[in-house]
Amino acid sequence: IVPSSSPLIAGLNAEQASAVLLPAEHALILAGAGSGKTRVLTTRIAWLLQSGQVSPGGILAVTFTNKAAREMMTRLSAMLPINVRGMWIGTFHGLCNRFLRAHHKLASLPATFQILDTQDQLSAIKRLCKQFNVDDERYPPKQLQYFISGCKEDGQRPQDVVARDEETRKKIELYALYEEQCQREGVVDFGELMLRSYEVLRDNDPVREHYQRRFRHILIDEFQDTNRLQYAWIKMFSAPPLEGLSSSGNAVFAVGDDDQSIYAFRGARVGNMADFVREFQVRHQIKLEQNYRSVSNILDSANQLISHNTHRLGKNLRTDAGAGEPVRVYEAVSDFAEAQWMVDEMKQLAREDVPRSEMAVLYRSNAQSRVVETALFNAGMPYRVYGGLRFFERAEIKHALAYLRLLENPHDDTSFLRVVNFPPRGIGARSIEQLQDVARASGCSLHDAVSAVTGRAGVAIGAFVAKLDVVREQTEGSTLREIIELVLEHSGLIEHYRAEREGQDRVENLEELVNAAESFVSVEGFGRDAVALPVDELGKPLTQSPASQGLDPNLPVLDEPLAPDAETGETLSPLAAFLTHAALESGDNQAQAGQDAVQLMTVHAAKGLEFDCVFITGMEEGLFPHENSMSDREGLEEERRLMYVAITRARKRLYLSHSQTRMLHGQTRYNLKSRFFDELPEACLKWLTPPQPAWAAPGGMGGGGQWQNGRRGGFGAPAALQPAWSPGFKERGDPKGLGQAEPEPDRGTEIRAGLTVF
Ligand code: ATP
Ligand code: MG
Repeated sequence: IVPSSSPLIAGLNAEQASAVLLPAEHALILAGAGSGKTRVLTTRIAWLLQSGQVSPGGILAVTFTNKAAREMMTRLSAMLPINVRGMWIGTFHGLCNRFLRAHHKLASLPATFQILDTQDQLSAIKRLCKQFNVDDERYPPKQLQYFISGCKEDGQRPQDVVARDEETRKKIELYALYEEQCQREGVVDFGELMLRSYEVLRDNDPVREHYQRRFRHILIDEFQDTNRLQYAWIKMFSAPPLEGLSSSGNAVFAVGDDDQSIYAFRGARVGNMADFVREFQVRHQIKLEQNYRSVSNILDSANQLISHNTHRLGKNLRTDAGAGEPVRVYEAVSDFAEAQWMVDEMKQLAREDVPRSEMAVLYRSNAQSRVVETALFNAGMPYRVYGGLRFFERAEIKHALAYLRLLENPHDDTSFLRVVNFPPRGIGARSIEQLQDVARASGCSLHDAVSAVTGRAGVAIGAFVAKLDVVREQTEGSTLREIIELVLEHSGLIEHYRAEREGQDRVENLEELVNAAESFVSVEGFGRDAVALPVDELGKPLTQSPASQGLDPNLPVLDEPLAPDAETGETLSPLAAFLTHAALESGDNQAQAGQDAVQLMTVHAAKGLEFDCVFITGMEEGLFPHENSMSDREGLEEERRLMYVAITRARKRLYLSHSQTRMLHGQTRYNLKSRFFDELPEACLKWLTPPQPAWAAPGGMGGGGQWQNGRRGGFGAPAALQPAWSPGFKERGDPKGLGQAEPEPDRGTEIRAGLTVF
């Protein structure tokens, strides 16, 4: 196929086309927002497949969210007549899960291992601390969670961590105990997914070499936000020539933008870009400088803002789109007024035929969404909150999932404790403690300890376990839908919530779980008998035998998203697959997906997305930039990158607003407008209300509120001051559901070092 004649290439500019058509060698595409990085990455996959350079099974692509992975799959299957299922496209966690499912024996995990999300992880840690009488003032569980996740991100097991002081020694000890507990219960947290699969690859030469031969092309979007472990994981699939390992002959195609690195607090290392270029001896570096997303008033604002950062790798962005509307700035007297103004603007936009799904409200901190939601609700305008409390994180859903998980794995103690007395069945805290004592003494799961508990407690808990066992038997061979319906009925959950005064929503959500399962079955293909084989344009099967591709015939090709067990060939049960999906799902509430609704999300969650009209709210000192990050230059620069990400989400219209007063967690705060306003080009802005000096704000300085410009850092900060991604919030802006704990104040600085050289 001649590239120029391919419609795939025809729509691209020269730089984009040259990136898509690069030979099969390592490459870095470094480019600003909206320059088509993701589009280039997707098109490259399509091109490689279409031109016959690789079969679907030879592709490994890492996206930033599950949503992005799905979109990429959809686009690829629209572009090409192939079965995309053989490709490995997903988030780091999704791909690690897929890998571990297939190699669970090598990873020393049970076939039915379950995934702990952030909340589950925290409750597991709390349970552990209670069991070992840990002083939770000295060692707050959340801090331990952060410590453990941080160690795992750096690839460190307890024995690898250096104990500099008594406190660290204690944390390491608890980390080790936590690992034992997870292992015993057959559960893994998000960090463990990554680390475990990395270790399997590192320690098993045949497996590593198998995958190195299999994945000819490894493509990574949003490379600037990879952490140490993720980078090390990528290296397992493609040995860089410097490491002395035989060069594996595959090509890593990394795509990123240093200006959009916004996860340093979670261990992301922009320095990975420079390391990649050095270690992989990258010869091809391409910059894309044409922005296709935004009008120039918006793009100029973004460019000028980010120019205040130092240590940039340096790139330019231009657009042919014309100036467009000016960026509108609004100053409100209160957060309510701000939300009301937004709703009014949205109504106007709707009259101009802007679909609601093209209107997005972005905020720095999740707590800001409530007042916007109220205003939208009162105006009868449908909206959808991303990264808020996800469907699968709601209490009633977690309860139902706990029952389902116990069907799969009776030794999952976290799930056991969640529902042993929910709905209440007269099992008291004392009885549960007794059970835990027995389990601890005999080193078994709670489930197995039940028979040893005597007296009334023993009877009640015994009945609970017996009931579960009965349901497990009854559901043998049932469909996923039947299993869920049976569980909802027998657990008493539906009945329990029906009797609650405000339980109707919860009942509906539980019913929605059945729908979620149904759509999971149809989307993921469970229940379908045959899956079409990948074919080329002439309909010829593209699948080659493993041996003909130089692959180890004894290792699985894993052409299904949830691959069969490498040894037994058994596939995961639909229930196990569904539970995995629930744990990894990135907060897309599928039930609402089709509805035309205003989109609400944190700036973190908005990465990679675009909308015609964007409202950035709460542009105030202490909020954006966030007070936890504004006292040091590194922190402030990350806030500025966040603002850059926020601005560059907008195609046609951008609104910035700030409010003189704001209620957050029951406290009125008087805020100065954000310093970022001073960093935007005045010519691109239109002030809807004349800027007033802050001291003119009603209530004034002495009004009983609090000036929010002082630094309040780290763990001591009250809930109201915690940033959106803090797991202290039930609603988090964690687009991937990575579930890392909140950062320690000093951690970010250590990670951010090393950005300068490129
Ligand atoms: P971000 O940094 O925000 O992730 P990106 O660099 O990944 O952005 P894309 O999302 O791939 O950019 O592209 C931005 C928009 O520009 C998309 O709507 C895309 O379809 C469009 N686009 C990209 N390249 C072209 C092109 N050559 N012609 C027309 N539109 C394009
Ligand atoms: Mg992108």
